[in-house]
Amino acid sequence: MSKIVFFCIPAYGHTNPTLPVVKELVDLGHEVYYYSFNEFKEKIENAGAHFISCDGVDLGMEETENSGDRIGKDIVFATELIVKSTLALDEWVTTDMKKLKPDVIVSDSVAYWGKLVAMKLGIPYVSSTTTFAFNQYSSQIMKKSLLDLFKMLFQMPKTKKVLAPLRDKGYPAENVLSIVQNDNDTHTIVYTSKEFQPCAETFSDKYTFVGPCIPSTEAAIDKTREKLVYISLGTVNNKNIIFYKNCIKAFTESEYEVIMSVGKDTDIEALGTIPDNVHVYSFVDQIAVLQKAEVFLSHCGMNSVSESLYHGVPLVLFPQTSEQEGVAFRVSQIEAGIHLNAVDANTIYSAVDTILMNEKYRKNAAVIADSFHRCGGAKDAAQAILRVIKS
Ligand code: UDP
Repeated sequence: MSKIVFFCIPAYGHTNPTLPVVKELVDLGHEVYYYSFNEFKEKIENAGAHFISCDGVDLGMEETENSGDRIGKDIVFATELIVKSTLALDEWVTTDMKKLKPDVIVSDSVAYWGKLVAMKLGIPYVSSTTTFAFNQYSSQIMKKSLLDLFKMLFQMPKTKKVLAPLRDKGYPAENVLSIVQNDNDTHTIVYTSKEFQPCAETFSDKYTFVGPCIPSTEAAIDKTREKLVYISLGTVNNKNIIFYKNCIKAFTESEYEVIMSVGKDTDIEALGTIPDNVHVYSFVDQIAVLQKAEVFLSHCGMNSVSESLYHGVPLVLFPQTSEQEGVAFRVSQIEAGIHLNAVDANTIYSAVDTILMNEKYRKNAAVIADSFHRCGGAKDAAQAILRVIKS
């Protein structure tokens, strides 16, 4: 029996895919300790792990209006966050790891404190990556402009200084790229397929592409028209009354049925008159909707896009953050979707219509669906972790 420690950040998108992996490891007789946050306690314990709460530790990760976007663009700010969160957990986690003596640490790709403590104590380490795997090639493809890249390179010397307190505590933190980017020697689990991963050929065989973790559902919806359009901006950046009103305008008197999920903080009354063929909800069973939809107008969160492609549904791409822009870029690159270039009713209608009228988008989405279905899932992820212990 092996002892396996997981570290994760407080986000469902990063936690959910790891839970079937934890369950698989526990079912195989291994002991799993999972450092996370109280909101996720029940789920983690249900998967069979010992839950250890990181609540009460100030990781400096409280969301401000633009912090998510800033992390993507401002590398000094991002480095400061890495240093702050790692130092906040340093004493406690280092002492715990020395006592527990885990055989391997599995840490989310942005829970840098897990990777750093593994490096500091020489414990085998596996990175768990719920977005695309990130190396010098894929990051360049995902970057929108050369300008971003230059900005990042010019800020590098500054980040070296910011990292000094980590080095003082015994962490081998020479430069920020060695922390945020996994090299080809790092064992990495990626929750997508090789076919969907950008620059997949540049990653070594230490990368295991296990496919997305798609929730199952018992629910089924009845379609009232031949073609169903699904619209959602996800669960976070979803307050956009003008966009929703324009969507309603776009499909009023159209031949399509529309389901639109507007989020719990959007006042549905404020959207005005809603025609019979458009159904607006605060939240829907997205999997049940995607089982019936022909097209998904999405904000391009990694989960929504994976769920859509898993069901062979092509997309109209309306990203709201830089990470979502990266995902959208990849979908348009493989021609399983097209970007929404403006948010007026005519543009929305014609983007959806283009997808519906052109078979190639559905076919390309089906190719990715097939690659997802062929992936080994949690079983493969668990075996990849156990191989690291044996090696
Ligand atoms: N979701 C859902 N119903 C809704 C809207 C969203 O079940 O009405 C789920 C969706 O299936 C996905 C998640 O919420 O699993 C959204 O994650 P994503 O990464 O796409 O975007 P985020 O909400 O984190 O921006």
